[in-house]
Amino acid sequence: MTTPRARLTVLAGPTAVGKGTVSADLRARYPQVWLSVSATTRAPRPGEVDGVHYHFVQPEDFDRMAAEGELLEWAVVHGRNRYGTLRRPVEERLAAGEPALLEIDLQGARQVRQTMPDAQFVFLAPPSMDELVRRLVGRGTEDAEERARRLATAEVEMAAESEFDHVVVNDEVRRATDELVSLMGLPVAVD
Ligand code: 5GP
Repeated sequence: MTTPRARLTVLAGPTAVGKGTVSADLRARYPQVWLSVSATTRAPRPGEVDGVHYHFVQPEDFDRMAAEGELLEWAVVHGRNRYGTLRRPVEERLAAGEPALLEIDLQGARQVRQTMPDAQFVFLAPPSMDELVRRLVGRGTEDAEERARRLATAEVEMAAESEFDHVVVNDEVRRATDELVSLMGLPVAVD
């Protein structure tokens, strides 16, 4: 049996679908899976650690990184802050023959599609639109105005499902994580 070639996997999906939850489950249960740590201009939330959850940078530093080609992709997400993937760690990882995972928004996924056509693109989908609304309201991290904005974006983003190589339904976090790990060609944990 041959080992699958190290590949970049890009995970994207609409707001509140659970990308962060799946990523956290992945980090906890599959520490061997390398997940890119993005740069962002947004402020850290309570409990978020610089260099672990994000590289929290000043807008002028972000500008410089983008101008100097240090970002593989970047986007303004939800009309507010900028988020971007650091190019070098991803390239180093792939050059070492190890798989890499990005958890980014749809605009970023489209950029990576242009520059890294060998990557595989995975869309994390909610079981239904009603469930997506329920999750967004339930997590209570956005006010009503921001929720409305994110839902409008989510409706547009749901239509992008067909652009992706695979769709993973986030009906149950563990199952969705296992499916993602399997798509990356890594052994799924038996626990
Ligand atoms: P949050 O602020 O809730 O951590 O993330 C907001 C959104 O930014 C999520 O949809 C997440 O996927 C996206 N995001 C996080 N990192 C990146 C990145 O490096 N590039 C892009 N394009 N989007 C990102």
